[in-house]
Amino acid sequence: MARYTGADCRLCRREGEKLFLKGDRCFSAKCSILKRQYAPGAHGQRRKKPTPYSVQLREKQKTKRIYGLTEKQFHKYYVMAERLRGVTGENMLILLERRLDNVVYRMGIGVSRDQARQLVNHGHITVNGKRVNIPSYLIKVGDEIAVKENKKDKTFFKELKESNFKNSLKWLEFDPKTLKGKILAMPTREDIDMNIAEHMIVELYSK
Ligand code: SF4
Repeated sequence: MARYTGADCRLCRREGEKLFLKGDRCFSAKCSILKRQYAPGAHGQRRKKPTPYSVQLREKQKTKRIYGLTEKQFHKYYVMAERLRGVTGENMLILLERRLDNVVYRMGIGVSRDQARQLVNHGHITVNGKRVNIPSYLIKVGDEIAVKENKKDKTFFKELKESNFKNSLKWLEFDPKTLKGKILAMPTREDIDMNIAEHMIVELYSK
């Protein structure tokens, strides 16, 4: 299925919670979910009794939407996670967290995962000194992530340099002054501060 190109806020309203897809707007009074706390569409205000299947489906859809992936891309992470040692659901979230577009977002270079993906796609980001324009690239411990030298003069990055943004994550660091960051450790489940019940996704896919 093709990538979703509709309004991001509809996705939050469908899931009934903030998915933080639009950067600063998500933290402002303009957030759609604050104004309309019901699902989009003509029947959005109808109340339906959730079934076990629908609860699992919503959890999967929500996670997929947080990371901005298509069903095919998202399912690939489940298959990869199943092959790894440990708890499949946690492995899956950790793999998703290791995507380069997510790391660029987590470092604070992009205000949303969408914007971070665009920065990667357009070749603004380097990993260990080499340009990487693949958003799904999986980072490793010790990788150095930076804004490409010849892109640093762009207004967007100049503004970032002047910001005092500091992420609070212990598995990565980023210095806005030099526009460089580093992966200090692999993310763990505790580092992923989103409301996701990953075991439900595993239950859904393993049916
Ligand atoms: Fe979701 Fe952000 Fe839109 Fe609020 S502003 S509904 S959190 S995408």
